[in-house]
Amino acid sequence: MNGCKRREPKEQARLAPPVLNPLPAKPEVAKDEFKVRVDTFADLRILRYRVPGFEQLTLKQKLLLYYLQEASLSGRDITYDQKYKHNLAVRRTLEAVVANYRGDRTTPAFQALLTYAKRVWFSNGIHHHYSTKKFVPEGLSAADFASFVSSVEPAKLPLAVGESVEKLIKKLTPVIFDAALDAKGVNKDPGADPVRDSANHFYVNLTKDEVQRYMRQQATASDDTPPSYGLNSQLVRGEGGNVEERVWKVGGMYGAALAECVRWLEKALDVTETPAQREALSKLIAYYRSGNLRAFDEYNVAWVKDTSSKIDLVHGFIETYGDPLDLRATYEALVELEDTEATTRIRALSAAAQWFEDHSPIPDEYKKKNVVGVSARVIQAVLGAGDTAPAMPSGVNLPNANWIRQKHGSKSVTLGNVLTAYEAESRDSGLLEEFAASAREVARSKANGGLAQALMVDMHEVIGHASGQLAPNVAPAGETLQGYAGTLEEARADLVALYYILDPKLVELKLVPSLEVGRTAYDSFIRGALIVQLARVPLGEKLEEAHMRNRALIARWALSESGNEQVIERSERGGKTYYAIRDYVQLRKLFGRLLRELQRIKSEGDFEAARKLVEEFGVTIDPALHKEVRARYEVLKLAPYAGFMQPRLVPHEEAGELSDVRIEYPDDFVAQQLDYAARYSFLPTYN
Ligand SMILES: [Zn+2]
Repeated sequence: MNGCKRREPKEQARLAPPVLNPLPAKPEVAKDEFKVRVDTFADLRILRYRVPGFEQLTLKQKLLLYYLQEASLSGRDITYDQKYKHNLAVRRTLEAVVANYRGDRTTPAFQALLTYAKRVWFSNGIHHHYSTKKFVPEGLSAADFASFVSSVEPAKLPLAVGESVEKLIKKLTPVIFDAALDAKGVNKDPGADPVRDSANHFYVNLTKDEVQRYMRQQATASDDTPPSYGLNSQLVRGEGGNVEERVWKVGGMYGAALAECVRWLEKALDVTETPAQREALSKLIAYYRSGNLRAFDEYNVAWVKDTSSKIDLVHGFIETYGDPLDLRATYEALVELEDTEATTRIRALSAAAQWFEDHSPIPDEYKKKNVVGVSARVIQAVLGAGDTAPAMPSGVNLPNANWIRQKHGSKSVTLGNVLTAYEAESRDSGLLEEFAASAREVARSKANGGLAQALMVDMHEVIGHASGQLAPNVAPAGETLQGYAGTLEEARADLVALYYILDPKLVELKLVPSLEVGRTAYDSFIRGALIVQLARVPLGEKLEEAHMRNRALIARWALSESGNEQVIERSERGGKTYYAIRDYVQLRKLFGRLLRELQRIKSEGDFEAARKLVEEFGVTIDPALHKEVRARYEVLKLAPYAGFMQPRLVPHEEAGELSDVRIEYPDDFVAQQLDYAARYSFLPTYN
């Protein structure tokens, strides 16, 4: 399912948020009316997530989370400036208008300006968060913009020394309205120079060749613990044409914001949960002070060792997706809290891993005698800032440096509450009603969908990938099954989850109240694999991604073995295709049979059998069904991208003493952005 954590570092260090989620909401979300979706504009939706269990934390833990929130938000201006040198000028000008405009706010022009401002906040700048293409305001003329800006008291505008309001407007007009100027944040087009022609602010007046020459001078061939060169600096052509490096550190570039981050991290040191956590935070502070990338590695090594704290933090210059050369990292922060409910579930599964292995339908000789459940971890996001907000990842796997991963390990987490919010939202989207085969299926999904999805993800990770062993002298699947290894491995893990989610053992372990949860998972899997996932593939294309292929493989193979549609039935109503499961027990047996065969293929390295299964069932799409599904999906008008408002931790005092930290869930996206700007603008407009 989405949320697979067995992924390679770097490229997939951050799991993409799901584009759509065919699974329904937890029913309890409906009862207490927590509104998940709070805004929709352009191609974007704004959602909210909750942090269950926050109230039960100790005051010390709440304080730690509060300090980490402040340390995280304090750096948010950095992300804007890194993405484009004019971003802070544009954002601050828009904020001045939105906060201070006294005229009629219901006019189309003002609404257009507001929508543009919301898009800028969503993308941390004027380039689309996903495509990195510049977007321009719709329904707002340059003259409207000029008149809005002129109406604001000049002292509220981000004017440079000696700059008039007219000059500011003249400077920003092409920046905002000319789509061809600095058109792409990250330009990897053939024929373009990715450094010179990208609008990001990692390089100034340089070309790719010049940057690469400079980088080569830094690396040492014999270094087996190489630092991530370039990760925390800007390169500029200095006086006399030399390449100069401006390091992001306290006292360096972005120093004002980083000093503020450090101030809060130091407060956090007093309330850490464990010595390992304290050690890691101290090293992070030392790194921000020195800017030394070997200090960053020391921090990462300490961070990986901190595994028992309930609270964790990702902070700083981490991911390099924003740099076409994959060297420099944008600022991001994620404050995390262990998900105790999910952790309990995973521990129960992990503790029973040997039972699952012993009772598996796979051949006895390929069963592990001592299986250890993989320790997948589910956390809750408490706050995202910088490049992890508003668009948030659904999982994180760090650190990125390969030598640290190999020598010291890594941490991999799924953001449970972010995924839950996606599920809850899909309740109102109409997706389920459109594609489910019956009203009964809809009702079952609404009652059990959240738990079914969570369990499928957990079982896939904890007992799925961990199961089975190779025959003696057979090479790893990557070598024997080559390009089919990924799809086969994901299918194997999904099949373990599918096989056991309908097992009475889960009731015995108190993981599910009844097997209705398993039936819900089956409905959802078949519906997703045979129908809903096709909506994400452009017409004329095949299934490419390993998870999509593996789901198609499993469902279509089962359909082909379903004997006169006695197990899975295809029907058509009003030109719409539906698949309904008629016999859950038989379907479970089919899943068991396929699992047995896939384990044999992996254990024996049977490339030809792997190729045949994947090519026959997991790749092609029936063009007529594809067209139908895309059309049905489009009618639902779901904005393709979602982002999140963040909870707000607020300290409360009694008689001058800190007595509590409370969590609030604001629901006004514009107000939250204006509040952030008022509290956390530590950088000059140009850096
Ligand atoms: Zn997986």
